[in-house]
Amino acid sequence: MTATTPVDTSSSTAFREASRRRTFAVISHPDAGKSTLTEALALHAKVISEAGAVHGKAGRRGVVSDWMEMEQSRGISITSAALQFAYGDAVINLLDTPGHADFSEDTYRVLSAVDCAVMLLDAAKGLEPQTLKLFDVCRHRGIPVITFINKWDRPGRDALDLCEEIKQRIDLEPMPLTWPVGEAGRFRGVLDRADGSFIRYTRTAGGATAAPEERIEPARALDEEGEDWTHAVESAELIDISGGEFDVAKFFDATGTPVLFGSGVLNFGVRHLLDLIVALAPRPTPRIGVDGTSRSLDAPFSGFVFKVQTGMDKAHRDQVAFARVCSGVFERGMVVTNATTGKPFATKYAQQVFGRERTTLDVAYPGDVIGLINASALRVGDTLHAGKPAVRFPGLPSFAPEHFAVAYPADLSRAKQFRKGVDQLAQEGVVQVLSSERRGDGTPVFGAVGPMQFEVAVHRLLAEFGCQVKLDHLPYKMVRKLGDPKQRATTNLGNRGEYFTRADGTELVVFTDQTALNVTLRLNEGFLLEPLVAGT
Ligand code: GDP
Repeated sequence: MTATTPVDTSSSTAFREASRRRTFAVISHPDAGKSTLTEALALHAKVISEAGAVHGKAGRRGVVSDWMEMEQSRGISITSAALQFAYGDAVINLLDTPGHADFSEDTYRVLSAVDCAVMLLDAAKGLEPQTLKLFDVCRHRGIPVITFINKWDRPGRDALDLCEEIKQRIDLEPMPLTWPVGEAGRFRGVLDRADGSFIRYTRTAGGATAAPEERIEPARALDEEGEDWTHAVESAELIDISGGEFDVAKFFDATGTPVLFGSGVLNFGVRHLLDLIVALAPRPTPRIGVDGTSRSLDAPFSGFVFKVQTGMDKAHRDQVAFARVCSGVFERGMVVTNATTGKPFATKYAQQVFGRERTTLDVAYPGDVIGLINASALRVGDTLHAGKPAVRFPGLPSFAPEHFAVAYPADLSRAKQFRKGVDQLAQEGVVQVLSSERRGDGTPVFGAVGPMQFEVAVHRLLAEFGCQVKLDHLPYKMVRKLGDPKQRATTNLGNRGEYFTRADGTELVVFTDQTALNVTLRLNEGFLLEPLVAGT
């Protein structure tokens, strides 16, 4: 649509467009195959005609889904955001969850902007640490999860064993919709548990085109696949015995997860996944404001900022704020109100950011993500709205930090600017700013989910506040919340840990490792520690 095309902003349009949206993110551990799957999904939806246009690895043309690698010259990718494509009548928004070196608090925050998550597991590895952390956030927020067990074309673990792990470790009932037939080099397709038929996939050169598939009756499947088919039928029966029946209510209340098996690299099972997202993923629903009232999807435009990225290069100050649309029709050029500051914000520069490519975005609906450039006035958690009534959505939560470092200005004559900068970064959620009696004199300790947050903080303090910063990394790895802050005065941690107060007032205690935590509990009967729940 061009800027001159009139946009239908009637309320029925907002409803209709919202009901077509499916907004989700992939949660996975690095190397499970997220980029490859993203490419395969886009391929199926035919936004690209040739696999590789999206993927940046293995010598393929890198354009989009190498989202998460830090851009070498700038120290940070300024491009990560959302991929949007049409699939049939649906519009899919796939939000990136930066992993690898870019893993940070932002990765968690992306989950506040989705309606569903796809948990991608490597068949040889099952649940891995980063997946578990991201899953915790989904559970805390009640986000329904679809599971895709990937890399079935390679030797991996037993399908039953993987389902058992999901059940035991994260107390989520696996509800397999398909079951793999053959494994590794003999992976040929899946048994469709809905009707017992065999879906056979055909390999294509390098997985470069959508894998053709054929639906085959069980009798013929037995004839043609022999033992692999028998084995699949038998082991799928074992899942039947232990439950695992698909129940949509369990998916919606996030106690059960539909499971699919496939191979992103071969495009096996990818169509099934897309169809499932369209069929099952919740449509955007009205978001509830801080005053407890929900903003109807057809109310005037509203949205909230879930991520802000600042270019690291002073000469190219380029701040992009990513907002999820919650209600109404967004049109580029609108002047909206920032509910946090009460100030107007002009959206002349709204963009859709697709990897390194940006296209101007003219209109967006509930569930979509808009990238607002030149957005130096916007902060993570800000609410934007047009028209009346005004609305303010809850701010975004903080997450349990896992990395800690004391920060000092290298030049003490810049101490004032340093303080100002640190306050600013705390407000924006770039790092968590903690104080400790042990550090004295207001020397801040930075807390982060991923070490990249420290780099961003150091760069910004220099670029924007003229402060060279020295970081002294601390050895702590575990954080808990104090159950009874009064115990702080009476419980000596020795060199096993330290007390911190976060800028929001939360009283924390950190330990070097699990042993240090255990020893402290043993030496101090009745010392109350609470998990720092993801999202508090
Ligand atoms: P990410 O780190 O999760 O984005 O993972 P990538 O998509 O970059 O994949 C990591 C590696 O696993 C790459 O070498 C991929 O080619 C490979 N890979 C991804 N999906 C599959 C799959 O289904 N089967 C096999 N055999 N390899 C895969």
